[in-house]
Amino acid sequence: MSKIWDEREKSLEEEYFRRKERELIERLRAKRVEEAQPNEAPKSAISCPKCDGMLAEITHEGVQIDRCQKCNGVWLEAGELERLTSLDEDHGWLSRMWRRLAAK
Ligand SMILES: [Zn+2]
Repeated sequence: MSKIWDEREKSLEEEYFRRKERELIERLRAKRVEEAQPNEAPKSAISCPKCDGMLAEITHEGVQIDRCQKCNGVWLEAGELERLTSLDEDHGWLSRMWRRLAAK
C-alpha cells in the first residue's frame, strides 16, 4: 500500500517539476523576445565587418559607399570600385591603385 502511495507522490512531484520547468522555459522565451526588440536595428543599418560600428551610406558622385561611423572604414559593393575609378578617369590615386590591382 505504501509503495503505491510513494509512486503516486513521486509522479505528482514529477508533474510539479515538469510544470515548473515549462513555466521557466516560457518565461525565458518571453524575456528573450523582450530583450531582442529594443536592440533590433533598422533593416537598412548594416554593422561593420571589422568592428561593431554601424555603416552609414554616403553617395559620392553617384556611387554609394558604406562608411563605418566608428572606425571610418569604407566598404564598397561589387562594381562600385570600378565605377569610382571610371569616374576618376586617368588621374587620382584610386584609379592608379585600381589599375595596379587589375594588372595582376
Ligand atoms: Zn568599423
